[in-house]
Amino acid sequence: MPELPEVEVVRRGLDRWVSGRTVDAVEVRHPRAIRRHTAGAADFADRLKGLRIGTARRRGKYLWLPVTGGGPAAQSAAEGITPVITPSVTHGLAVLAHLGMSGQLLVQPQDAPDEKHLRIRIRFADDLGTELRFVDQRTFGGLSLHDTVPGDADLLPDVIAHIARDPLDPAFDDAAFHDALRRRRTTVKRALLDQSLISGVGNIYADEALWRARLHYERPTVTFTRPRTAELLGHVRDVMNEALAVGGTSFDSLYVNVNGESGYFERSLDAYGREDEPCRRCGTPIRRRPWMNRSSYFCPRCQRPPRPR
Ligand SMILES: [Zn+2]
Repeated sequence: MPELPEVEVVRRGLDRWVSGRTVDAVEVRHPRAIRRHTAGAADFADRLKGLRIGTARRRGKYLWLPVTGGGPAAQSAAEGITPVITPSVTHGLAVLAHLGMSGQLLVQPQDAPDEKHLRIRIRFADDLGTELRFVDQRTFGGLSLHDTVPGDADLLPDVIAHIARDPLDPAFDDAAFHDALRRRRTTVKRALLDQSLISGVGNIYADEALWRARLHYERPTVTFTRPRTAELLGHVRDVMNEALAVGGTSFDSLYVNVNGESGYFERSLDAYGREDEPCRRCGTPIRRRPWMNRSSYFCPRCQRPPRPR
C-alpha cells in the first residue's frame, strides 16, 4: 500500500499536469476499476465529460480531484491553489482515486502505447497532448465520482467524511488529538492507525515514529501526557516530511506514478524491516512481533513494553 508521502507525490503531480483541464472523454476499459461508482461506467463517463478538474487534494492516503461544471464561483474554486471558500459553492462533485495495492495514475502522451493494465483513460479538451491514465495490475483500486460534503472548504467527497485530518494538514488539531487519545481505551499504535483519529499513518511510519519517540507499540494511550503526545506527533511529522523530501524530487516530470513499494525511503528506516539488525541508538537487535495481521518492529531496550496492569 502506498503511504501518505507517496500519495502526496502523486497529488503534486496531478496538480501540476491535470488541474485546470477540462474533461473531453472518459474510456473505462475494465468494470472492476469503476465498481465503487455504483451508477456504472457509462454514468461515470457521461457525468465527467465537460467538467473542469480543480486543485488536487489529499487527506491521509485519500486523493481526490474536485470537478466543476462552470459558472464564475465554481471556476474560481477550481482554480484555487489554497482551499477557496466561495459562499455560493456549498457542494460539488469530486473524483476519488483509490490506489489500492498497485494503482497508478499516469500522465502520458496521447500517442504512447497503452499499458498492459490500463483500466481508465481520461482525455482532455485542450492541445497539451497528454491524457490521464489509471493503470492497475491487481484492480483493487479505481476511480469514482461523489458529492462533496456541503460547505466543506476542502471539497471533501462525502464517502470519506469520517476520515480525520492527517498530521501534515495545517488544520490538524493537536490538542483535540491528545484529548481523543486520553479518552480512548486503546494502545498507541492502534491509535496511530485509526483513520478516525489521525489519517495517513501506516504501519511503516508508525513503527518509525514510535522508535524515535522510544515508545513501545502497546503503550496505553490513557497514560499519555500532553508533552508526550506533542513529542510523538513531532516524530510522526518528521518521518513523513523526510520521506516527502526524498520522494518529492521525482514528481516534477511527465510521469506521475505511485506503486506499492516505498523503495526510496527504505534505506533511511530505523526500525521497520530491520529484524535482528542493531538498533542505531543502542546496538540491541531490533525485534519483530506479529501485530494485527502485520508486524511491529521495535528495539526491546529503547522501547520497553508497558508493565502488565
Ligand atoms: Zn535501542
